[in-house]
Amino acid sequence: MYKAPRGTVDILPAEQAYYWYVETQAAEMCRRYGYGRIETPVFEEAGLFVRTIGQGTDIVEKETYTFKDRSDQEMTLRPEGTAPVCRAYIEHGMQALPQPVKLYYFASIFRYERPQKGRYRQHHQFGVEAIGESDPALDSEVIEMAWNFYAILGLNDLALYINSIGCRECRPSYIKKLKKYYSSHIDELCPQCKIRYERNPLRLLDCKEPSCQDLVDAAPKSEAGLCPECKQHFKEVLGNLKIMKVPCKKNHRLVRGLDYYTRTVFEIQPMAGGGAQSALGGGGRYDNLIEELGGKPTPAIGFAVGIDRIVLTLKEQGVELPSSEDQGIYVAYAGEKAKAEAIRLTAEMRTAGIPVHIGFGNKSLKSQMRQANNLGVSFAFIFGDDEVAKGTVVYKDMSGGDQWEVEISEVISLLTQG
Ligand code: AMP
Repeated sequence: MYKAPRGTVDILPAEQAYYWYVETQAAEMCRRYGYGRIETPVFEEAGLFVRTIGQGTDIVEKETYTFKDRSDQEMTLRPEGTAPVCRAYIEHGMQALPQPVKLYYFASIFRYERPQKGRYRQHHQFGVEAIGESDPALDSEVIEMAWNFYAILGLNDLALYINSIGCRECRPSYIKKLKKYYSSHIDELCPQCKIRYERNPLRLLDCKEPSCQDLVDAAPKSEAGLCPECKQHFKEVLGNLKIMKVPCKKNHRLVRGLDYYTRTVFEIQPMAGGGAQSALGGGGRYDNLIEELGGKPTPAIGFAVGIDRIVLTLKEQGVELPSSEDQGIYVAYAGEKAKAEAIRLTAEMRTAGIPVHIGFGNKSLKSQMRQANNLGVSFAFIFGDDEVAKGTVVYKDMSGGDQWEVEISEVISLLTQG
């Protein structure tokens, strides 16, 4: 028997109400903040991600789904949403548009990770990117938007963490300082951190191994190493967030897993959460990424949230979704002529915008009524050959059981006029 590949899930109709809720709230929020939707391909040339996410990151080293297509081109299934959007920004000349260009997306994301609750090999993200502006007011607007999103959904008990990891001017000297600090503790590091020390020292700060925690706590903080411009930028971001009453906590461990971030980085986690794995969303500035991809130097900032983790949290917190969709009408029939008339009227109802179920397979009326009950419809129309001959149909209230005989020709106006 085939099964869904390890680390992937089927999202069945019963779950869809949650996904629909999250996605419609996201799209509505984006409209208010002035974001337009973008869709990029599920796969891109492999180089796009190696170049931007960075050699030495977990994603590029261990997690991408990369394959050669039939003309021997290396392709990668999208492991994150930002690089493809930036590629599209350059490719379509969006620098000629009024800046910042504000884009949002819903995307399937593929990472070969160790599957567990809330961690999949294919997951779904909602993300936004605001490209072409360096004003710290844009950072704070994007962070406020991310924070607001969880409130709109009805989620509680979340924490927003923020940090600044500097720019290409000041980060190298900070990393030097960090390496110098760690150089006298190499023997105490967990095996993974020994590798990080060589390849990606910033990531030493978000190690979750208990044995590394004291070292992380005492490590030099990136904020202390910021150049005057980055310091001022961070100060303004924090000031704006205060004005907007967005409660954020500085967290010097927050560095994020991708190389392209500069200056502001942030993450949203459940208060009772256990580290990065429970992150519900995060983002940051990436002022060099567009240039790295061959575009003009263009500052930008964005965030992405994990829709699947949001759905899990909505359920855990018992958030009630707005009342579920009307299940509509059930059309039942007994007899050949009745079936033909039932089929005709069902099509007519759907054209009029009414959700309708019809019985299949010439089952008994009793079994059709049982199905109508199971579907949870409010009303049924029951066609019999005798009624059809008279031009009438039985209209039944499924909750109370009352029923009336109505003219078939009046059914549509009866339903559409309430
Ligand atoms: P990232 O690009 O890693 O910052 O991911 C953005 C958000 O996507 C995270 O905050 C998580 O909510 C979610 N996410 C990341 N990786 C996974 C995964 N493997 N499975 C489910 N959700 C994920």
